[in-house]
Amino acid sequence: MNILVINSGSSSIKFQLIQMPSETLVCSGLVERIGEKDGIINYITDSNNIKLTCPIKNHNVGLKRIVELLLDPEKGVIENTDDIGIVGHRVVHGGNSFSNTTLISEDVKQKIKEISALAPLHNPNNLEGIVVAEALFPNAKQAAIFDTAFFQTLPEKAKRYAIPNSLYTDHNIQVYGFHGTSHKYVTEKALQYLKLKTSKIITIHLGNGCSMTAVVNGKSVDHSLGFTPSNGLIMGTRSGDIDHAIVFYLVTVLGFDLDKVNTLLTKESGMLGLTGYNDLRDIQAQAEKGNKDCKLALAMNAYRIKKYIGAYVAAMNGIDAIVFTAGIGENSSVIRQLVCEDMDVFGIHLDAVKNNLRSSNIREINTTDSKTKVLVIPTNEELEIAKQAYELVH
Ligand code: ADP
Repeated sequence: MNILVINSGSSSIKFQLIQMPSETLVCSGLVERIGEKDGIINYITDSNNIKLTCPIKNHNVGLKRIVELLLDPEKGVIENTDDIGIVGHRVVHGGNSFSNTTLISEDVKQKIKEISALAPLHNPNNLEGIVVAEALFPNAKQAAIFDTAFFQTLPEKAKRYAIPNSLYTDHNIQVYGFHGTSHKYVTEKALQYLKLKTSKIITIHLGNGCSMTAVVNGKSVDHSLGFTPSNGLIMGTRSGDIDHAIVFYLVTVLGFDLDKVNTLLTKESGMLGLTGYNDLRDIQAQAEKGNKDCKLALAMNAYRIKKYIGAYVAAMNGIDAIVFTAGIGENSSVIRQLVCEDMDVFGIHLDAVKNNLRSSNIREINTTDSKTKVLVIPTNEELEIAKQAYELVH
């Protein structure tokens, strides 16, 4: 069965066509700059790597262009839109309504719309992708895969904020969690690899956004992102944990308005705010040349991760493995080394040689006598979406 995975963002649509159950990637691509004068379409198959520039007025046009490429007599991979069995949609926020992947109905669309207040930058675009795909693939099943679903198992003591109860009961203010598809995917890979009867692991997703999850026997029990994807670790442009009173200081003493505060904390902070760069490769290169701000930012970044490891070992009363994933987690031996040094108390001992090897497979980078395993597992959110969509209808 062909599954078309769609990740519809504010100005882009990422897509992959995956054959299940063989997990074969048939084609992938990205439509960027939707709504701008020069839209860009990237489309990759075994025999094609195409980049097109053309105006893409809106998501409807973007998805139509994708369908044209999929059906193209020369470059295409399907003959007819009915060759797509399921369209799997990434939906960022499922609120408390969705703890699992769901077939899309009018009721589900309505709920996704209602939850938009919790994710105004994401859910409306995800919904747009769903509506357009329904029209273009009328005979395919449409499935929604929620980033928040993996965190529906968080116990109340971990998901509640210590604010008046009515804000939780009447206004749903609580920890929701994000990057759930990635945390779930690497958790399952780690558990297959570890083959333990019971397990306590920490998954560390370090991309542009960064988050950590404490997972007991495959179920999340704590997570570093919160009501929005702002909390916790230091990210590319987001501050992660700060004293919330800084917001009041910025407003009342420094005269910021709330929009400016929001932009500051989500787009101008994190590694960018500390160094002037948000790409970790640049920061590492500058640190090597002796740039003090970059050295400090790397140390702060790793220190924050260490503190969360400590907190989650306490929360789980033990640890079998930590798992690094996503762009930084998979590729930065520097961050992994900084995180794992001086962690003897948790039985974490990194093998420096293994840490520096490269591979696109799951790999163990701890010393042979390390009590806690340190794993690097490449994430694959699109494949996880395809798997969940496939399992839903089989
Ligand atoms: P997204 O959250 O957008 O999916 P990714 O998972 O692709 O992000 O991660 C992007 C981050 O990964 C960037 O900060 C980038 O610098 C970092 N990264 C990618 N490759 C490397 C590398 N070889 N070494 C260090 N960092 C890397």
